[in-house]
Amino acid sequence: MTAVSEVSPDPIVYLNGELVPLSEARVPVLDRGFIFGDGIYEVAPLYAHASGRRTAFRLKQHLTRLARSVGKIGIANPFDDAGWRELIGRVAEANETDGGLRADQDAIAYIQVTRGVAKRGHAFPAGVKPTVFVMVTPLSLPGAAQRASGVACVSAEDRRWLNCDIKSVSLLGNVLMAQYAAENDAFETLQFRDGLLTEGSSSNVWIAKDGVLAAPPRSNKILEGIRYGLIEELTAECGIRFEARDITEAEVRAADEIIVSSATKEVLPVTRLDGAPVGAGQPGAVFAALYAAYQRAKAAEAAAAQEGVENESRERLTV
Ligand code: PMP
Repeated sequence: MTAVSEVSPDPIVYLNGELVPLSEARVPVLDRGFIFGDGIYEVAPLYAHASGRRTAFRLKQHLTRLARSVGKIGIANPFDDAGWRELIGRVAEANETDGGLRADQDAIAYIQVTRGVAKRGHAFPAGVKPTVFVMVTPLSLPGAAQRASGVACVSAEDRRWLNCDIKSVSLLGNVLMAQYAAENDAFETLQFRDGLLTEGSSSNVWIAKDGVLAAPPRSNKILEGIRYGLIEELTAECGIRFEARDITEAEVRAADEIIVSSATKEVLPVTRLDGAPVGAGQPGAVFAALYAAYQRAKAAEAAAAQEGVENESRERLTV
């Protein structure tokens, strides 16, 4: 276990208007994030490039989801998109100067907004200012070896609440699922609700059968990853048929391929589930096509940022 005081180098973080070292950042114990898990978060990748520039990937979509998350729990968004961009850029820059983030390191922007600090009482307090926290830390993407072998997963019943579409910091259900995976030497736990696939503890889940990719439909039972829309686009680009539909546990176990996706994993092949091989037990063709297309999408967005091209869907970045 690493205590915060041992974090080295000590990143510079933003907390309620100030840039401070993470080891010195403090929130009052009556913060509703601490007391009730009453808050939301967002995680967006910032990729480093040979040019020395860092570009955010799909930041517009991440900020739209952030706005949706605060909206769903009745918190006024503390910043508009431009404000968040500026803030993430400031924190990233501060870390390149003082926080030990190298210009050639990929990074992750972690944003958390809680309802704020108030006398304890369940219902929303009046006139409280949200707590805003932003941290930019190095991102280690899965390596080539992990992509080549794929990862092992386990499965479990999805016992979480029915507001999984809110990116809430109330993550106990997800924490228990991640721990279940860890205790079983697995990378992730794939969850099923009423016999249907939902998602992992911190990833969306996809299956491929006979060259067709499928994922559970967007609903309150899953978090819509920013990779959800991205992968939909990539399937179209690659000529892979995609179906958003209910997927039974039997279908998952009979799939040719299983893929997990998230900001920090990108796409990863699952080659074992509950100890049994998935399909041929090797990463498959659909994964290979999506991974390659994902890397092309990153390169395209970085190139657009480099040229300073304004474009609605391929945002330019931050730093
Ligand atoms: N579902 C859950 C429960 C998650 O925690 C995540 C990761 N934030 C995802 C799906 C994937 O979302 P994204 O692609 O935006 O990282």
